[in-house]
This record gives sequence, structure tokens and C-alpha cells, in this order.
Amino acid sequence: MISDNPNLRYAILSDIHANLEGLQAVLKDAAEQKCTHYVCLGDIVGYGPNPKECLDIVLGLNCPTVMGNHDEYCTSNMELTGFNPMAAEGIRWTRTQLSDDDKAWLRDLKYVRHVESFTIVHATLDLPEKWAYVFDRLAAQASFNYQHTPVCFNGHTHVPVAFVRGPTGLQGGLYTKIKVEIGRKYFINVGSIGQPRDRNPKSSYVIFDLIENVIELRRVPYDIAVTQKKIRAAGLPESLAERLTQGR
Ligand code: ZN
Repeated sequence: MISDNPNLRYAILSDIHANLEGLQAVLKDAAEQKCTHYVCLGDIVGYGPNPKECLDIVLGLNCPTVMGNHDEYCTSNMELTGFNPMAAEGIRWTRTQLSDDDKAWLRDLKYVRHVESFTIVHATLDLPEKWAYVFDRLAAQASFNYQHTPVCFNGHTHVPVAFVRGPTGLQGGLYTKIKVEIGRKYFINVGSIGQPRDRNPKSSYVIFDLIENVIELRRVPYDIAVTQKKIRAAGLPESLAERLTQGR
């Protein structure tokens, strides 16, 4: 008899940044890859031209979601002095595009959540509300000290990278496929759907198969020209369009 072989494949989505074409391409890929569940690591909005549409799609997924810094900025009235002018312009424009209900939903998101046997956070586990960037092993170490599950996924830098803490120390680097092993801890940046910054313009996301215990990085092409046209039509800064082709 063939027993029911349950699939438990999570698509880990992050830094959508109001890029509808990127999000749609990733969700199509995730469906083809037979993903059964979704989580979202925040920064649904900011930079891109379709905040409302992307938010509605994430709401439709009805999945565990944590707050990103852009979600926070776009739903508050905080002053944006000291911000990168390009980011500030994106945030100000996004504030005009979201309804009060949208903003309330984003504002209520938690910084950290546990899903199944893993953790999700936008930036770091040590001080999630400070939005620190984890680029090196020292910063990863600080986060590991607060990680109580074998695997934690994050985003924020828009650069996919894996940090692994094992019996022989802490390593960090690029990855495509990781087999999760007992006795190790994994802090995995899944990259960005809407604005990749690792010089690869394809949307980035991760599939975590909890039956096989395998983490896989996926890169998905999308119609960048369409998104760029919308960015220009919305009157957003030209550099926000240009960087999509450069992946930076
Ligand atoms: Zn982001």
C-alpha cells in the first residue's frame, strides 16, 4: 500500500518591495515546485510601484509574516531625515498608496515568529527592532545567541547568504542547497524578490522541505522592463528602476 506521503514544503518569501512581476514569477515557480506553505519575512512594500497589489497577494496567502523596516516606515508618520533620499521618496509615495486598514495590518506584524520547527525574522534575532544588517560572522554570532531553533530565515540585506554554526565553529558563504544536519544551527538569508542586490537581477527566494530537511535557494527571472516602466510612470526615482537590471 502506498502510504500518504505528506509534503511539507515551505516557500520563504522576503523583501518583495512592491514588485508585482517579481512576486508573481516567484509564486508561479513555488507552485511548480509543489510548495505547500508560505511564510513572508517582511518588506512587502517600499521602493516598488505596486505596494497595494503585493500586500493583497500576501494577505491572500494567509501565511505567517514578520515586519520589515520598510513596512514600519511606510505605516508610520515618522520623519525621514537621515534616510537615503531615494528610499525616503519611495516611503513617502508608498504612504499615499496604502489604506488605513493596510497600514494597521502591517503595523501589527510581529518582529519574530516561530513556524513549525523554524524561526523567521526580517533582520536579526538579537535586536530585531533595530534593523541591523548581518553581513559577517560577528553579526551572525550575535543573532545565533538568540536562536532557539535549528533553522532561522532572514532577509533585509537583499543578499542570499548562509551562516552555519557547528562543532568546529561558524562559517558563512554563498549557498544553493543545504542539507540540515543535527547539531548545527543555520541562519539563512533568502535574498530579495523585489530588489536583489547580489548582482543577479533574478528574484530570490528559498524552499525549505521539512520532510527532506533540505533548504534550496531559487532564482527566478521576471519581466523587469514592466516593473521599470511602472516605477517611472509612478514618478519614483529613476535609480530605483535602473538598479533592478543591475541587481544592486
Ligand atoms: Zn528590504
